Amino acid sequence: MDGVERQLRALGVEMVDCHEPADLVVVNTCCVTAIADRKSRQAVRRARRANPDARILVTGCSVVIEPEILAAADPAARLYDNQSKDRLLVELAALVELPRDQPLPTLSGVKPARARANDRAAEPAVESSRGGPIQMDGDEGDDGSIEDGFETRTGVDRTRAFVKIQDGCSFHCTYCIIPRARGPERSLAADDVLADVRRALAAGHREVVLTGINAGTYADGGIALPGLVRRILAETPVERIRLSSIEPQHVTDELLAVWVDSAGRCLPHFHIPLQSGDDTILRRMGRRYDAESYADLVARVRRAMPGAAVHADVIVGFPGEDDAAWARTREFLRSLTLAGIHVFRYSARPGTAAERMVGQVDSQTKKRRAAEALALAADARVSFAERQIGEEMRVLFEAPLPDGRWLGHAESHVLVAAAAPGGDPLRNAIGLVRAESIGPNAPDRLLGRLLAVDWPPISLPPGRIAHESLAEAAGK
Ligand code: SF4
Repeated sequence: MDGVERQLRALGVEMVDCHEPADLVVVNTCCVTAIADRKSRQAVRRARRANPDARILVTGCSVVIEPEILAAADPAARLYDNQSKDRLLVELAALVELPRDQPLPTLSGVKPARARANDRAAEPAVESSRGGPIQMDGDEGDDGSIEDGFETRTGVDRTRAFVKIQDGCSFHCTYCIIPRARGPERSLAADDVLADVRRALAAGHREVVLTGINAGTYADGGIALPGLVRRILAETPVERIRLSSIEPQHVTDELLAVWVDSAGRCLPHFHIPLQSGDDTILRRMGRRYDAESYADLVARVRRAMPGAAVHADVIVGFPGEDDAAWARTREFLRSLTLAGIHVFRYSARPGTAAERMVGQVDSQTKKRRAAEALALAADARVSFAERQIGEEMRVLFEAPLPDGRWLGHAESHVLVAAAAPGGDPLRNAIGLVRAESIGPNAPDRLLGRLLAVDWPPISLPPGRIAHESLAEAAGK
């Protein structure tokens, strides 16, 4: 959506807050979870209620999965599936110039409806360890398709640049709708990734987050993900590279060697979906590893990079997960000493294999297990933050806090707040910080003393998204 916004601004269209009246509303939907699906439909209805005469354009994954339901939410809205997103960009210019009384031009439509009229929003219901919805499997900053131009596939309005290297997945985990919604894997050419990274650096970004639906499948000719990262390190001056998410089987020794050889430019933080600590459930999920190999992987990461932060996803209440299987998952999560756990509560997603499985778990049990997993997640985050006290870390500052301190992510992704010397704005500065204590209101975040500052070479434009989300996340 960054690209849509930039294009509309370039056309002279004034952007307004989503609560204000508008002539044109673009809703980017997400179907990865039941919550996301429901919110997508609510957003469309809310937009129509608030703007009865507006042109409303709806795009994103829900348009692929449930076009009829979205059409029912607002029959006057125009729908664009992911394959039509580039057409949406092309046609926006014509659209905004139309006289208001002229009918909409013929726009790229959706493929023939595949969702049933009685489809219900489903798919793993997601709860983050912060108690709110989170995205799934490498979706951070994932709001453009791989075929789109740089402006769309790369999030450059934030302090950190989210550079999309890959889209789609054909792993077909039995609970997941993404392969149907996004199609099979395809990768951006390595030269194009490098160009995107260079553009992000030229815009002043100091940290690049490589994103993809299944980023570990990256392949451009003979170049896989380790080779791509080596090229970025060798051919650009990027200061920090982070991976958004990577499947366990893709964290190879070769990839870890790239991280170790990068002299700190590749950040020691891995988000590796686990989903279950029970081998039977993992098999039923169609996952391609078992609990033992996941534990070995975490140990391998820590041998290569002592102190590295490992985050995991877990789905609770998958069909067949009885009390014994859940207990194994719970104990397994405890044993891993993770830095973060993202908790998903399973709900059946129409069109997936898991929907038809026997052994569906009742909602009360799922809620109870989710609460237990969230408690484990909170403990993990706090323990990880506590273990950092006394350590020195390099923090990329992103947002001011109401008390005048600045907040940013350390290499491990933990949030750290520190006061600026003389009250100078620290946005986009990388500070060497000694962590001194945990936050009084947010015990998974660190308060630190700024020892040195590496000021940014170029100032970024105001980053409304990062400022708002980080200040909120700070809980201050
Ligand atoms: S790896 Fe599995 S969960 Fe992740 S996007 Fe692919 S099918 Fe979905």
